[in-house]
Amino acid sequence: MKLDVNALRYLTKDDFRVLTAVEMGMRNHEIVPAELVDRIAGLKHGGTYKVLRNLLKNKLVHHDATKYDGYRLTYLGYDFLAIKTLVNRGVFASVGRQIGVGKESDIFEVATEDGTVLAMKLHRLGRTSFRAVKSKRDYLRHRRSFNWLYLSRLAALKEFAFMKALGHHGFPVPTAVDCNRHCVIMSLVQGYPLVQVKELQNPDDVFDTILGLIVRLAEHGLIHCDFNEFNIMIDDDEKITVIDFPQMVSVSHRNAQMFFDRDIECIYKFFRKRFNLMSEKNEEQDGSESDGEGNSRPSFMSVKKAAGSLDKDLAASGYTRKEQVEMEKYIEEDAEGHDSGSDDDDEIVDAVPIGSLKIDQDGSDEPDCNLDSRNSGGPGTSSEEHGTSCSG
Ligand code: ADP
Ligand code: MG
Repeated sequence: MKLDVNALRYLTKDDFRVLTAVEMGMRNHEIVPAELVDRIAGLKHGGTYKVLRNLLKNKLVHHDATKYDGYRLTYLGYDFLAIKTLVNRGVFASVGRQIGVGKESDIFEVATEDGTVLAMKLHRLGRTSFRAVKSKRDYLRHRRSFNWLYLSRLAALKEFAFMKALGHHGFPVPTAVDCNRHCVIMSLVQGYPLVQVKELQNPDDVFDTILGLIVRLAEHGLIHCDFNEFNIMIDDDEKITVIDFPQMVSVSHRNAQMFFDRDIECIYKFFRKRFNLMSEKNEEQDGSESDGEGNSRPSFMSVKKAAGSLDKDLAASGYTRKEQVEMEKYIEEDAEGHDSGSDDDDEIVDAVPIGSLKIDQDGSDEPDCNLDSRNSGGPGTSSEEHGTSCSG
């Protein structure tokens, strides 16, 4: 998605106040009635309506008059709220070029006041699943619609918490810098996704390192679930950095073994195809494989015995067991091929109950990486591609 941050420069305090009012209204309205936006924003002399027209012109909100005169945030509007909050907080000062388009995210470079370049990941849950959903309209007609903004926020929170905890335990992941709404700020990884690499100096070493990471993760109680050449970055010294954590699950998940084996299989498959590792002579009679040095594949059962837990670190980062359970529920629905969606044409937002409607002066009340203030009940998502990008 195009992110024209120029518009950000020209938005006034009132613009942000009204944009935030729409966001707040969306906690219990799919489409927020214009009067409610006006009431929350509290601008004098009908100012809200003029501002709404400006926000609409800049595609920060979407107007819907099918049932009543109302508005909802677009992803761009949500982006702007997160960016504004993080800029106000001094996390970064400018947004640069787009460096990645993930399945369910957009990644941009951002720069701090002193010129340090960081990576900003904007989560867009529901983007891909929604495409798939479109072709299944009839089937889905009677199903509830889903709150993509809520899910994107949950994904960002999870990613941030896991990145922090993993970094703390010495795993090669980007440094988690900050998080707000659906946006995660992290260090910029120097290097390329492994999928772009045609040749390696030491393919065996890289392969061992990567397999070792999957095993060590499981020993810490976690499975990546999307561990493949797209989510492994490698630099010129063939140093590995793992990215992309929203779909991680605990080794106690009931499908843990399947996820673990799939992660391992992805790596085997990729290295066999791309770097011709483990050629036929290493395939054993019974169909199991050795890694070329006579070692057999890591088995889930043997690593699970040693499994420790990162739960404490995750809780400290604001991502609690409750959120973990919720997120795992979504992943599970994915794995089981459940789908979800609505007939709407764009980003879809569903009702989430709200505690209080309050707005602060700079229009950025949104809690960061903790979801304490939001009510649960966020529905499931369905990215059919989640965890299945194992290329072969
Ligand atoms: P998704 O969850 O949508 O797959 P990823 O986190 O995998 O998103 O990011 C998509 C792409 O963006 C990656 O393949 C990579 O090229 C780039 N990218 C993501 N994070 C970083 C980072 N910290 N530094 C540099 N590039 C990154
Ligand atoms: Mg990815």
